[in-house]
Amino acid sequence: MNTESFAIRHIGVREEDLKKMLEIVGVESLDELIEQAIPSDILLKENLNLPEALSEPEFLNLIEALSKKNRIFKSYIGLGYHESMTPSVIKRNILENPGWYTAYTPYQAEIAQGRLEALLNFQTVVTDLTGMEIANASLLDESTAAAEAMTMLFDVRSRQQKKHNVLKFFVSEEVLPQTLSLLETRSAPLNIELVIGDHQEFDLTPDYFGALLQYPGKYGQVHDYSGFVKKAQDNDIKVAVAADILSLVMLTPPGEWGVDVVVGTTQRFGIPLGYGGPHAAFFATKEAYKRHIPGRIIGLTRDTDGNPALRMALQTREQHIKRDKATSNICTAQVLLAVMAGMYAVYHGPKGLMNIAHRIHKYTKTIAQSISAYGFEQLNDVYFDTIQFKVDNLNAIRAIAESRGINFNYIDHETISIALNEAFTEKDIHPLVDCFAESKAQDHDVRIMEHEGQVIPAELVRKGTFLTHETFNSYHSETELMRYIKKLERKDLALNHSMISLGSCTMKLNAASEMLPLSWANWGNIHPYAPIDQAEGYHVVIKELEEQLNIITGFAATSLQPNSGAQGEYAGLMTIRAYHRSRGEEHRNICIIPASAHGTNPASAVMAGMQVVVTKTDEKGNIDVIDLEEKVNQYTDNLAALMVTYPSTHGVFESSIRYITKLIHDNGGQVYMDGANMNAQVGLTNPAAIGADVCHLNLHKTFAIPHGGGGPGVGPICVAEQLKPFLPSNPIIKTGGEKAITAISAAPWGSALACLISYGYIKMLGARGLTDATKIAILNANYIKERLHGSYEVLYAGENGRAAHEMIIDCRPFKEHGIEVTDIAKRLMDYGFHAPTVSFPVAGTMMIEPTESEGLAELDRFCDAMISIKKEIDEVSIDNPNNVLKNAPHTLAMVTSDDWNFTYSRKKAAFPLDYVAENKFWPSVRRTDEAFGDRNLICTCPAIEEYAEV
Ligand SMILES: *Cc1c(COP(=O)(O)O)cnc(C)c1O
Repeated sequence: MNTESFAIRHIGVREEDLKKMLEIVGVESLDELIEQAIPSDILLKENLNLPEALSEPEFLNLIEALSKKNRIFKSYIGLGYHESMTPSVIKRNILENPGWYTAYTPYQAEIAQGRLEALLNFQTVVTDLTGMEIANASLLDESTAAAEAMTMLFDVRSRQQKKHNVLKFFVSEEVLPQTLSLLETRSAPLNIELVIGDHQEFDLTPDYFGALLQYPGKYGQVHDYSGFVKKAQDNDIKVAVAADILSLVMLTPPGEWGVDVVVGTTQRFGIPLGYGGPHAAFFATKEAYKRHIPGRIIGLTRDTDGNPALRMALQTREQHIKRDKATSNICTAQVLLAVMAGMYAVYHGPKGLMNIAHRIHKYTKTIAQSISAYGFEQLNDVYFDTIQFKVDNLNAIRAIAESRGINFNYIDHETISIALNEAFTEKDIHPLVDCFAESKAQDHDVRIMEHEGQVIPAELVRKGTFLTHETFNSYHSETELMRYIKKLERKDLALNHSMISLGSCTMKLNAASEMLPLSWANWGNIHPYAPIDQAEGYHVVIKELEEQLNIITGFAATSLQPNSGAQGEYAGLMTIRAYHRSRGEEHRNICIIPASAHGTNPASAVMAGMQVVVTKTDEKGNIDVIDLEEKVNQYTDNLAALMVTYPSTHGVFESSIRYITKLIHDNGGQVYMDGANMNAQVGLTNPAAIGADVCHLNLHKTFAIPHGGGGPGVGPICVAEQLKPFLPSNPIIKTGGEKAITAISAAPWGSALACLISYGYIKMLGARGLTDATKIAILNANYIKERLHGSYEVLYAGENGRAAHEMIIDCRPFKEHGIEVTDIAKRLMDYGFHAPTVSFPVAGTMMIEPTESEGLAELDRFCDAMISIKKEIDEVSIDNPNNVLKNAPHTLAMVTSDDWNFTYSRKKAAFPLDYVAENKFWPSVRRTDEAFGDRNLICTCPAIEEYAEV
């Protein structure tokens, strides 16, 4: 065994176990299994054309050498991105800690109380600083959050109030360019008409449903929007504000004007720039909109014993329930970054944040005064941290600045803006001012002028306190904060405890060597709008990763811009839309989607302006080809696309897939493949081979980016030649094809920093390792299938009786014992396991996906637990709900309580199998009460009295 190969670290199955497993599965060899699982007409004949694998040290050397090709400037570019300082205690204990970054989205609340609390902190920070009533637990970036605000307000107005002719949306010219581009993308398919203008001169008429303002404006001017908001309200027009989170520490919060939505990014709360992301955006609004908020909201409720417990409130599985009626397709968000930003506020507390904001403001005043003293005209009189100057010698200033490692924002040939940030110190004043002094003055005598006056008028100064809750006022020594973070971490079950076999989500190893570079300043500290030649290291990685993904998918081109799978779906459908339009076929708007599709599919299709037609699945779980043929015939003239997941969400490689994709092409449609299940394809087949035209990949599933407790994600799209011209661009730094659609994400290459992980994953596995990983993923699934045989019925299988990389087990028959699928999910916690995916795509079932990273011992523990639970179900009778399943999970408090009123033993409750005892994980609360929490919605850190009411 070559212990220097990364493949043996990533792939969990040991050589000596392989034989045993193949025997149980009933095949002679791994290849025999693969031939049974995958239809022969799509099996690739050639190996992936990728270079040899690198060892871990080789990769670390490479990525370090590449990092040195990035040049780190002092960036005063602003435009929604600012250098920030990640407190080391947060970096070490959260960003670099698998206890946090390998967790899943907190659907199983009882084993996720830690990150739920951290997210409640984040929501509290956002609500307090914006002055709004309620906030969600993060969105993808500021620009998409602004687009979500627009569509939410539109939806409320047009759908709820049935005002279908109110289609105009006002956008202030102060709005960031990337946000404007995103609004263009998102408004077009919905027939929303954007009107861009100066808010001071603009007359709102009743044909507007809403407006978006930027606070402070894109080049720093702070406007008092109270009059605008008042006028809008008089006309029943809703107002959204995109606000800078740090400025809100000093400025009047928009909530006080009565606005409807406030969005923004929390990047400057301790999150590295990372050449564009990932960062957590926020979305805050009024209670009245609580059922329309995109994404996830964390709320307080009670558990079975009446103790306080947190869980995702209201629309937890929004798209899954509402599908094509959903207002948003947000699924993966930015949880890890929201956790960090919330913790940054815990670290600094209200006084620390005030200090930082006041210091930045003071330096900004000094810089403004000093530059003005050289005769440059300052264009904005009211500002927080960003100032704008008119200059007649921009090129000279720029040349000096770049020679000193400084970036300003060059707005046009005679205007510069300068945005200061938390990292700015006394020492930085001189070099900054000098760029202007030297460009003008003969002598090099830099004069620094203090500015004693008040530049923010009294009515725009925040009054009153914020972040008064004790969480933000208690953990200010490193010892205290380290322990607080640990206390939360211990409540959460993550991959560093046990297998998380979430079907469709691919919870595989996130290797340490893949993660390490994320902490390095040479990757972290680059502004997304820095000149391209400063980011050479990034561009090597981006170009190579795009090529790797082209090879893996068999496609012609890749865009890394989308920040999640759902954004990838939307981006892909928008390229299809642009393609049809370029051929004069804009009438093609029908998108056929199988009934079993993930909820984001129909939601994305509607956002892309398409009409969803659902096609049936047959009793074997395959697309019902006869039904599909009928639908295609019926809609042949207007067919835009088919969206298909492959292998299907039922965990099967459908053998008619090539017939299906040809049928769509013959009728003028394009085929979108949802690539969430790519882990079953890499190296063995690919989307091009099945006949698709475009797919998204979830780099946070198949390509080793950790789930982070619900994000970040990266959802690139890969496209065939004919769609390549339409790949998305960015208004500041051009990306994409020659007929590019407008932006899908704020940053040109989305979450560039996270792409390093997938790059490392592919580099260290190489063609052979990637293909082996796929084979073992399929083996592991089929091994579980065989072991559970006799205890659980597996719902679907391919023609030869094989699963792909995941399978669905039926839990509906247990209803006759009074047992629901949720009871099994909760009981698994007592055995130290996170439940598989519950009730997707079939209600009352579980979808199990072990991935290649798990070895035989862990697979066996999981199977033993499932089989043991099945025996427990058999013992239960429907008339007695006092049983080990209904009472699950069992907490330490229950088991050690002086009262024990259950009909089974404490040992059976908490230590049902021997392996549990040596590595027990204790759920920190009993089962959470969903309905109670939704009736009594509390979404910020509660005061003690509120706990008492619970
Ligand atoms: C995860 C998933 C998605 C959505 O991806 P996100 O990154 O969460 O937006 C879409 N389709 C399927 C089948 C998935 O499993």
